[in-house]
Amino acid sequence: MKQTLDQLNAYAKRYGFIYQGSEIYGGLANTWDYGPLGVALKNNIKKLWWEEFVSKNPLNVGIDSSILLNPKTWEATGHATGFKDPLMDCKLCKSRHRADSLIATATHGEVDADGWDYSQMYDYIIEHKIKCPVCGGLDYTPIRDFNMMFKTHQGVTADSVNDIYLRPETAQGIFLNFKNVQRTSRKKVPFGIGQIGKSFRNEITPGNFIFRTREFEQMEMEFFCKPGTELEWFVYWKQFAMDFLLKAGLKRDHLKFYDHPKEKLSFYSNATTDIVFDFPWGFDELWGIASRTDYDLGRHQEHSGEKLEYLDPDTNESYLPYVIEPALGVERLLLSVLCDNLEEEELEGGETRTLLRISKALAPIKVTVLPLVKKYQSEKAEEVYKQLLEDFEVSYDDTGNIGRRYRRADAIGTPYCVTIDQQTLEDETVTVRERDTMEQIRLPLGELNVYLFKALK
Ligand code: ATP
Repeated sequence: MKQTLDQLNAYAKRYGFIYQGSEIYGGLANTWDYGPLGVALKNNIKKLWWEEFVSKNPLNVGIDSSILLNPKTWEATGHATGFKDPLMDCKLCKSRHRADSLIATATHGEVDADGWDYSQMYDYIIEHKIKCPVCGGLDYTPIRDFNMMFKTHQGVTADSVNDIYLRPETAQGIFLNFKNVQRTSRKKVPFGIGQIGKSFRNEITPGNFIFRTREFEQMEMEFFCKPGTELEWFVYWKQFAMDFLLKAGLKRDHLKFYDHPKEKLSFYSNATTDIVFDFPWGFDELWGIASRTDYDLGRHQEHSGEKLEYLDPDTNESYLPYVIEPALGVERLLLSVLCDNLEEEELEGGETRTLLRISKALAPIKVTVLPLVKKYQSEKAEEVYKQLLEDFEVSYDDTGNIGRRYRRADAIGTPYCVTIDQQTLEDETVTVRERDTMEQIRLPLGELNVYLFKALK
């Protein structure tokens, strides 16, 4: 059964995946801190993406660019003036809303106001009596632009010359380095540059737990190809992204492609798709995939005065490559993974167990070591723990009865439990229990690491 957002939130807090940010000061709205299991899961998600898109992908290479970029970057891309949302205030309770979201929520997603002009949105809201979701009033300010970039100052003086922005996407750091990377990696087009890093957006309506926050991490790739081939590559990366999500353990029937209709495309894009996932509140964007033509490189070439064209060594042609951009949020994928893998499983005899049926690659802890009776077997168990630490993310648990400890391991998705009992002390064998089937086998300690290594692969 589908978990509610509240259930996921309570689960994440209880087991140490995610806590409210700044909790001891009463919290800071819509910030979240990742606890021991949360950070391990996040790292595994990033590792999987990095392997599939960068380190084990012969087409691509990686980069780690700065969060602070020369502000001219954002003038060139249009973010300085155009990265904005339609903001309106409720005059009665002073709450702030995104006008297009008010319409989407009130019509259960039937009406998509993205791309409407502001007077159209305002009239629709008033005509259809879309009330303030906070106080129920119908008295709004006119809609105005709200730029979502976080502004700060560089250096010691806080004047406008020193204004600088926290990047709202990781993509531009890739474009600025296109020439550097191409030259130094000696990659030929087509090739891609992948990056994982923090982005910041001063969202008007953050929420839905970790779905929309003001500080988040993105896993983005810019794939550079010859003009005219971009739509083939667009299809290729769409499918690649879908396959990646299945590998990460999401269910195919909870995923859909939403192809943006031609008339709704950004002016620089000739194809855009979102992979949408069935979140607790319904289908919503997980991954944006856009064919961005040569817009970004073209703008940076124009504004910087630097030639960013690629000289094809085979044909001697010079051109600005076209770009396909798959852009995915780490936290949105983490939330999807929890949604699709957390279950309450009915066992024989009417019992239930909380089970995180997460893929082995993403499991925060791969193995846990449990002495059956702490008093007699903890010394040996600690020895086994150390033996496993060399090769795996492993934990040690000697608190509570063994049944409880198995349940805890199941609940956080640990694929294997290794139990040390009286027999271990006599013949150097241990019990290995598998999470999903709960089957147990007995193995010599000398074979344990190799067995687990193969089983976890
Ligand atoms: P949305 O329509 O949900 O605001 P977007 O279309 O603005 O998203 P993109 O600019 O395409 O998003 O960003 C790429 C990806 O980055 C998104 O698909 C999402 O996974 C992630 N992302 C974007 N904004 C946020 C946010 N505020 N919080 C968490 N993840 C985000």
